[in-house]
Amino acid sequence: MQAAIRTNLEVVRTRIARAAGRVGRDPASVRLIAISKTFGMGHVRAAVAAGQVDFGENRVQEALQKIEAGADLAVTWHLVGHLQSNKARKAVVSFAVIHSVDSLDLLRHLERAAVDTGRRPDVLVQVDLAAEATKFGAPPEEAVAIVRSAAVSQAVRLAGLMLLPPFVEDPDGVRPYFARLRALRDDLVSAGVPSALLRELSMGMSHDFEVAIEEGATMVRVGTAIFGARSRP
Ligand SMILES: *Cc1c(COP(=O)(O)O)cnc(C)c1O
Repeated sequence: MQAAIRTNLEVVRTRIARAAGRVGRDPASVRLIAISKTFGMGHVRAAVAAGQVDFGENRVQEALQKIEAGADLAVTWHLVGHLQSNKARKAVVSFAVIHSVDSLDLLRHLERAAVDTGRRPDVLVQVDLAAEATKFGAPPEEAVAIVRSAAVSQAVRLAGLMLLPPFVEDPDGVRPYFARLRALRDDLVSAGVPSALLRELSMGMSHDFEVAIEEGATMVRVGTAIFGARSRP
């Protein structure tokens, strides 16, 4: 298992570098976040041994157990899944980056929790560009309102936008969504939001991260291509 994870990470890093190279980007401008959901600490430790630093989880409870079990590791934890307001405090003390801010209400809870606990997590606003009622993420208009509010927050630090596009078999079919997230970022910067607060575009997963990088992703969230197939989604 350890050898497979090491090899998979090398392959993914090479593919990241090639995708960046195709569009004249520095591969170092793309952060690889290893999504370890459903996998145990053995998998996390194997990835750490192979040089991986950033890890992402989509459920707070599952993540907290791993964060505690891995307290000896120098890793950065990212929350990439939906967050309920009543777990804002737990999230703020446990994650360096929260990718899934999708309502003003959640942002307010995070801000209060950050002030109370003295933590200053980076936050990304998750945008729903497909108007999928079943999916999380704020529709673009609401996302703009969240960005404007987060930009003037005192404790949480706005860092960018996140996208979880609909699944499309052909990775190129997702390209328009990636391009639209980047365009939304550019529009917000043109409208006066400081670009440093929108420097991150978290987009791209195992089957489409290269396309996402070509379209400007600065964080790719890769699970299956590193750890193998999951037994539950
Ligand atoms: C599970 C998950 C990923 C990783 O998906 P893979 O297809 O396994 O790479 C990325 N982002 C989010 C939000 C996830 O929940």
